[in-house]
Amino acid sequence: MALATEGALIETVPRGLYIDGDWLQTPDTLAVEDPSTGETLAEVADATEQDALAALESASRAQHAWAQHPARERGEILRRAYEEIIARQAELALLMTLEMGKPLAESRGEVAYAAEFFRWFAEEAVRIDGRYADAPNRCTRLLVMKQPVGPCLLITPWNFPLAMGTRKIGPAIAAGCTMVVKPAKQTPLSMLALAEILERAGLPAGVLNVITSSSASRVMGPLIADPRARKLSFTGSTEVGRTLVEQSARQLLRVSMELGGNAPFLVFEDADIEAAVDGALLAKMRNGGEACTAANRFYVHERVMDEFASRLTARMARLIVGRGTEPGVDVGPLIDSVERDKVGALVTDATGAGATVLTGGEAVDGPGWFYRPTVLVDVPDHARVLSEEIFGPVAPLRSFADEDEAIAAANDTEYGLVAYLYTEDLRRAFRVSEQLETGMLGVNQGIVSNAAAPFGGAKHSGFGREGGREGIEEYLETRYLAIAR
Ligand code: NAP
Repeated sequence: MALATEGALIETVPRGLYIDGDWLQTPDTLAVEDPSTGETLAEVADATEQDALAALESASRAQHAWAQHPARERGEILRRAYEEIIARQAELALLMTLEMGKPLAESRGEVAYAAEFFRWFAEEAVRIDGRYADAPNRCTRLLVMKQPVGPCLLITPWNFPLAMGTRKIGPAIAAGCTMVVKPAKQTPLSMLALAEILERAGLPAGVLNVITSSSASRVMGPLIADPRARKLSFTGSTEVGRTLVEQSARQLLRVSMELGGNAPFLVFEDADIEAAVDGALLAKMRNGGEACTAANRFYVHERVMDEFASRLTARMARLIVGRGTEPGVDVGPLIDSVERDKVGALVTDATGAGATVLTGGEAVDGPGWFYRPTVLVDVPDHARVLSEEIFGPVAPLRSFADEDEAIAAANDTEYGLVAYLYTEDLRRAFRVSEQLETGMLGVNQGIVSNAAAPFGGAKHSGFGREGGREGIEEYLETRYLAIAR
């Protein structure tokens, strides 16, 4: 698409803070960069602490009436927003590609995935129920009901600018919670466009408030400390998540944490190697490797290692790197220079420790923050690339001799978000799945994300679930009535 059209699209996106149904400008602004050129795309509002408190005040004022709103209407607002997102899929995808970098086809996929959370939770809104029982000794009747938790603070990352938002906003709306949302500073435009869609879908003023800021801690610190907030849902790095859990302890906020990952990808000797390579490409290269679910370490049985490595290398070497708006591009830029340098440093550390580069292994000259799809073999155990989240297009491969060794290596991490395994043996698939310490598993498939499934991690990858039937529970409180006989 021509640059003039891109500029015209960006002009249509609101740039202000969205508080109590109004779009508010701020004296200071925050620049949003195109990671494929390094150029500024737009300036959005830069919230102060007072703006943030005004957003929470708005959410707090709206809470009571919103909780009384019929569930059917809450669901229908989500359904209308779903329809509009789908109708505007191409335009929202372009906006996402411009601010985040991923190729247009992937952005279209994310827009559809993001919309699906609204469709799913539109359906869940009318399924919130409770139960009735007699106490075992018949001394009382027990009535269990679900209530919205109350005003929520929702913090999202830059890697999936729309889906990480709808995955929280959808269940919060369905449950009858109001909210203050803070998107990542690199990718606020998708969230601002989403707020406008929800406004048009009929969401009452104050239910959703969106603040953009150059300093997350400046605006979120005071809100986390404010007794009007009842819940914090965060998607981002484990490091920041840990700090936020500590801060949340003061007000005993309900907390959901979707944090970092270090996914192992296991290929057993009986695997369909062609399918495993397809899955590896998806698990590694979706979102250019900038996904919490990205395969971070490949453990391949020694008998099939050479075949797997050579096929994966051939496929990785063929991927076309470039600006996400260009036709035929498979891999966009990394989000910024810091992330690209981090990926480069992990590769340098691995090769310094003895790893061999089969393809890639270097940055692409700018402008923009590109890194070549890379395959590393003979990666020693102590290389940082095996223990740290790479968040880039690098696949480190290691061989294993038997199942126990593979399971031990896969579990040798503080993370526990997702694991992938390839085997044609059903018993082995169950046996290994039961021993892997992760919240999710891809069995003979390289992607697990689905709005109908409970997404979430174990260990240092966090707690709480998003999507599925479990997703709405994060926004509901259980109340029980003891009714005298
Ligand atoms: P990040 O640096 O932790 O930031 C995530 C969000 O938190 C951003 O909105 C950021 O705002 C905000 N933030 C940062 N410091 C904060 C503070 N002191 N107080 C309040 N908010 C704060 O993570 P990221 O680099 O954007 O995202 C990548 C990470 O997210 C990776 O580790 C990835 O694995 C993880 N992730 C996890 C999932 C999952 O579902 N488990 C999904 C996607 C991504 P600013 O942008 O303004 O700094």
